This record gives sequence, C-alpha cells and structure tokens, in this order.
Amino acid sequence: MKKRAVPTIIGNWKMYLETEKEAITFIKNIERKLSLKKIIKAKYYLAVPDLFVVTLAKLAKKGFIGVQNISGLSGGAYTGLQTVRTVKSVGASFTLLGHSEVRARGEDGDILAKKVSISLKEKMMTVLCIGEKERDTQGNYIAQLEEELRKNLSLVDRSLFDNLVIAYEPIWAIGKDVAATPNECFEAVIALRRALASLVGIDHAKKVSILYGGTVTKENASSFLKEGGVDGLLIGRASTDASTFSDIIASCHYKK
Ligand code: PEP
Repeated sequence: MKKRAVPTIIGNWKMYLETEKEAITFIKNIERKLSLKKIIKAKYYLAVPDLFVVTLAKLAKKGFIGVQNISGLSGGAYTGLQTVRTVKSVGASFTLLGHSEVRARGEDGDILAKKVSISLKEKMMTVLCIGEKERDTQGNYIAQLEEELRKNLSLVDRSLFDNLVIAYEPIWAIGKDVAATPNECFEAVIALRRALASLVGIDHAKKVSILYGGTVTKENASSFLKEGGVDGLLIGRASTDASTFSDIIASCHYKK
C-alpha cells in the first residue's frame, strides 16, 4: 500500500501525567522541540486525561488532543460519564477505543461496538485498538483478530470508515521490555487489511490507517513504519517524555 504522507504518531498518556502543570510543560516542550527539529509537516496526537483537553487543545499548535475512552451513550441520565459530543465540544479531536487496559476492566464487545459506531457517526477520528493475547505458531491468532475486528465494527456503516484508524496492539507486547518484531507486525497488518477489505470492500478499507503499538521506543519506532507495514504508532510510556516523543516523531518522518 502507498505510504501516507505524514505518519500518525499517537501518544497514550494513560494516568502517567497527573497534573495540569506537568501536561502544560510537556506541550510547551514538544512544540519547541519539533520547531527546533524543523520537521515541516510534524504532527502529533496525544490521548490525555479528559480534564486536560480544554487547556491542551488550545496550546497544541502542531498537535491534536484526544481522549482515551468515551461512554458510547448519547446523553441522558448517566452520572459520571461523557458523550463523544461533550469531549468534542471542548476540543478533543480523536478518541482511543477498545484499549486492552479498558477491555481488561470489563468492557464487553457489545458496548465497544456501540462506542465505535457512535464515535464515527459524530465524525470523530476513532482509533480502535485490537490485538491478540498471545501468539500461537499455527496462526490461530489471525482468525481471532479478524473476528474481533468484525465484531467491533459490526454497527458501523462503510461510509463512515474515513475517520477510522486501527491500532494493532498485541497485548503480549504492551508495557513490556520487548516489542513485537516488524515482521510479526507485518503479518498482523496484512490480516487486518484483508479483513477490512472483506468487510467493506477495498476502496473503503484503503482509507483506514493501521498503527502499531506495544513497547515502541526511539530505537525501534521507525522500523515498524519501514518494515512493519504500518502508517503510524500508538505509544504509551515513551510518549510521556517530550524529548523522547519528539525524537520518535523525527525518526518516523518520511524523508523525501
Ligand atoms: C499502550 O498501552 O497502548 C502501549 C503501547 O504502551 P507501551 O508503549 O508502554 O507498551
């Protein structure tokens, strides 16, 4: 597949940065570092705690601020939850959905399918995280990935695929010391692309960017773009330090 002009590099802060002060300092630093590196089209995405969105969305000139989850409801008597329209109205440009840490806390497939559908209907860039728990040598994990993708997208009309991004995140490689290899990533990306094409046809499937996530570092980041067949990265720990994150963005920027 033809490479997209600018890779999609998304940081997932989880709860690593806890105060607004730390978050503001990070954004000021990354903006400065990217300007110094003179990467003309440098862009970054950060999934931050909801409460930081208003402030950070105003400060981030080269960046897009998003959230780590939404409720999948469209308003009403649900104390303590937020709709996609609410987070969008204060500046969120995208949402992660189906992250393995959220799934592990009990998010079920029906709720996730609703979240994906409601987010895409609101024209929100929607980053759906998908990955196998373990990798078997017979390749059964491929069928599991395809099945998961089908279930998670079961309520989405193909006309809404323009705003869909898939993050391939093998659970066995998240928060670990060792990442997947670019080759392991490539095998899963091929399977996901094939599954997308069989769901909605090749033209709609081609619009979907696929990212890799799982122990990305500044040393291994560009290898996933060069050899792993992805259009970008979803990064946890290495996105919480502005210096490291800006080095990753620089290393992934396609040279002409
Ligand atoms: C993640 O949690 O999505 C992730 C990729 O984390 P890490 O980069 O820390 O493995």
